[in-house]
Amino acid sequence: MATDQIEFNYENIKGTIVALDCPDYMDGLNTPGRHFHFVSDDRTKGGHILELAFDSSEAEFDATQGFDMCLSDDTDFQEMELSKDVNDAIKKVETNEE
Ligand SMILES: [Zn+2]
Repeated sequence: MATDQIEFNYENIKGTIVALDCPDYMDGLNTPGRHFHFVSDDRTKGGHILELAFDSSEAEFDATQGFDMCLSDDTDFQEMELSKDVNDAIKKVETNEE
């Protein structure tokens, strides 16, 4: 599935990776399964990780039992067509899987 996602390749870069591991019941709010986000230490580069290799790392784990979801009160958002099934497009953007 084609998306308008822009892809970048970075090498020798330091930053933070946040892995999201969402259970199946989160389908519709996020992509079930695991996907990775990256932000560089200087906060100028980031996004979803599609491929990754690293020389060294530290890892921490946090099991979150809840979250707050804030929705926009902007008119454009309120009138947006959200009933369309975009799960395949979201999965492609977040995991690079078809
Ligand atoms: Zn994501």
